[in-house]
Amino acid sequence: MMAGRWRAAGVLALFWVCMVFAGCGRQEPVRQTVLVMDTVATLTATGPEAEAAVSEGVTRLRELEAMASPAGADSDLVKLAAAAGNGQWVKLHSEVYHMLAVSQAYSERSGGAWDVTAGPLVELWGIGTERARVPSAAEIAAARAKVGWQKLELLPQTQSARLMEAGMCLDLGGIAKGYALDEVRRIYAQHGIKDGLINLGASSLYAVGRNDKGQPWRIGIRDPRAEDKDTRLAVVPLGDAALSTSGDYERYFEQDGVRYHHIIDPRTGAPAQNAAMSATIVVAGSCADAGMLSDLLTTTVFVLGPEQGQAFLEDLPDEVQGMLCDKQYKLWAAHDFLDGLQDLQINR
Ligand code: AMP
Ligand code: MG
Repeated sequence: MMAGRWRAAGVLALFWVCMVFAGCGRQEPVRQTVLVMDTVATLTATGPEAEAAVSEGVTRLRELEAMASPAGADSDLVKLAAAAGNGQWVKLHSEVYHMLAVSQAYSERSGGAWDVTAGPLVELWGIGTERARVPSAAEIAAARAKVGWQKLELLPQTQSARLMEAGMCLDLGGIAKGYALDEVRRIYAQHGIKDGLINLGASSLYAVGRNDKGQPWRIGIRDPRAEDKDTRLAVVPLGDAALSTSGDYERYFEQDGVRYHHIIDPRTGAPAQNAAMSATIVVAGSCADAGMLSDLLTTTVFVLGPEQGQAFLEDLPDEVQGMLCDKQYKLWAAHDFLDGLQDLQINR
């Protein structure tokens, strides 16, 4: 009896020693915040190689920014625009080529709702800049003539591209951050990071493993009409998956009761005018290009609007979940996305 009690006490003591060691062994997360790709990015990682993973991640973000930006000597977009209409192929960085190849597949699939050649329209509307204004119908028609994913040609053998008409230009604003998520995630994997968060300005994130409480990361989805940007519509518990949100509240101006925002419907040449306020997509990390897909799909679903956007999502693999929130706060979800939501602030 006595011996049993001592044995139990011994086991308990051993348990506490292990717990203390485990506690000491838990490393503080390494976190770095930088301004890159027009956004405030925060990289968080835990593990013996967290410092290296975060610092290499930041370097990679800067490299991607240089090759996919609308300006700059090393930008493929600048080279493509300069050669537009002259028939010559432009050799691209493999990263940019990959973005364009995936992009073209989704342009076709979405009937042109998603289109990286929307550059001239993005430029014309200037949403989010000081020159933002409602252009004339003639200006819109002229810009639309320089838009069309079929006029972007790709050559896989040499990873080159060309734009078939003078004045065309690409805009990777709806996909580059997603691609960057995938790149940083690869760097994290090379460094054996099991827990971390790659946050490119809250609208695009990749969650690796768990947070420092050992729980899934909790990602708030913003209420599209709340004054305070911290007011949430709901919380998504996230682990080993990418999440993106696009909304008409990010960059916009209002005129005569119409909200002109930064998500362009290339088919009309104007900011998408349908019932959508925001779209949120989660793509499981098991999918290739999870980050890039989550990013481009939010824009696509937003442009397609509630019914078509939902149907579009339903047609994609189950690893892609998401929802569109319309102006009545009705949620149009696909693949059981609502079941995973927490702290939902509206009645559905
Ligand atoms: P996001 O905030 O991820 O929806 O991305 C919006 C950005 O993508 C815009 O600021 C534009 O740079 C670009 N964009 C806007 N409309 C489209 C579209 N229909 N297809 C592709 N890119 C677009
Ligand atoms: Mg996007």
